[in-house]
Amino acid sequence: MKSMIKAVLCLLVAGFLLSLPGYAATPSDGKLRVWFIDVEGGQATLFVTPEGKSLLIDTGWPGNDGRDADRIVAAAHEAGLTGIDEVLITHYHMDHVGGVPQLVKRIPVGIFVDHGPLRELGPETDGIYADYKKVLAAGEAKELTPTPGDQLPIAGMKVTVVETDGHPILQPLPGAGETNNYCAQSEIREADQTENSRSLGTLIEFGKLRILDLGDLTWDKERTLVCPVNRLGRIDVLIVSHHGWMQSSSPALVDGVHPQVAIMDNGAKKGGSLPTLKTVREIPGLEALWQLHYSEEGGAAGNTAAGYIANVTDKPDAGYMIRLVASPDGSYTVENGRTGEKKSYILRK
Ligand SMILES: [Zn+2]
Repeated sequence: MKSMIKAVLCLLVAGFLLSLPGYAATPSDGKLRVWFIDVEGGQATLFVTPEGKSLLIDTGWPGNDGRDADRIVAAAHEAGLTGIDEVLITHYHMDHVGGVPQLVKRIPVGIFVDHGPLRELGPETDGIYADYKKVLAAGEAKELTPTPGDQLPIAGMKVTVVETDGHPILQPLPGAGETNNYCAQSEIREADQTENSRSLGTLIEFGKLRILDLGDLTWDKERTLVCPVNRLGRIDVLIVSHHGWMQSSSPALVDGVHPQVAIMDNGAKKGGSLPTLKTVREIPGLEALWQLHYSEEGGAAGNTAAGYIANVTDKPDAGYMIRLVASPDGSYTVENGRTGEKKSYILRK
């Protein structure tokens, strides 16, 4: 009798879960798919799990007749999504949170994840933050404000908050915690006082693959995360912080986490600083740097090879994406949306 009651309860719970709103995606043969959407030097990175669960990190810029929201929706439709489960806002700068009002007009969002209240008050941020709060107040999406070490509630991949609102995780992640030999040679810089230093950073794990995204986290904050002990450990794919601008990507961070592949969401004239391009390309053991744009500042000396750049010219700008498809064994391919060319990577030992 007891087991029968249990079975009925299980069915009821399963039925309830199935009845929750979800945004179906096209089946993906057990693979994680990631779209690095070109929002012209802002961020918009869409993750879709094999089960069709979705996480978008940042929403690009406001204005431009909804250009960035349209590009995000195009990627979501490519994935077969009818909505986005979670939208993570790394911080309240225009190139990250600015696209929210336009996005929610085009596609439903389940939860917004953020670092809590705006910390950089002023004319440039107040309005953009108020627009975001208006979307939350409309009540169509929930708000979640995690603390360091929390995991986001998304099935099919593990998303751990490693830094938020200026605070890093206190304990090293499992397997991490070694002394970081790159700290000594990494310049020490003053504390940044803007929203950048409040960025909500995450480690995204899918099977054996580890992807790091720290938003626009600044040089000084990187140091507290990885010095003197590297609390993050090694990662495989580095989403280069801050669009490759030289306020981020200290050798302590980028050499310390030792990525196999780096992907930079720079614009033609935003991010992609020459010193940062050099630092990233010289990471020991790096197999490739991919860029969303050719960086005008980077020139011939700084930019990666053209085959690894999605948008090589500003006019006309087609907004080509970079796509990454990963298997649970940690192997993955990266595709240049402009050329259709793919490169395959096998996880290092
Ligand atoms: Zn930014």
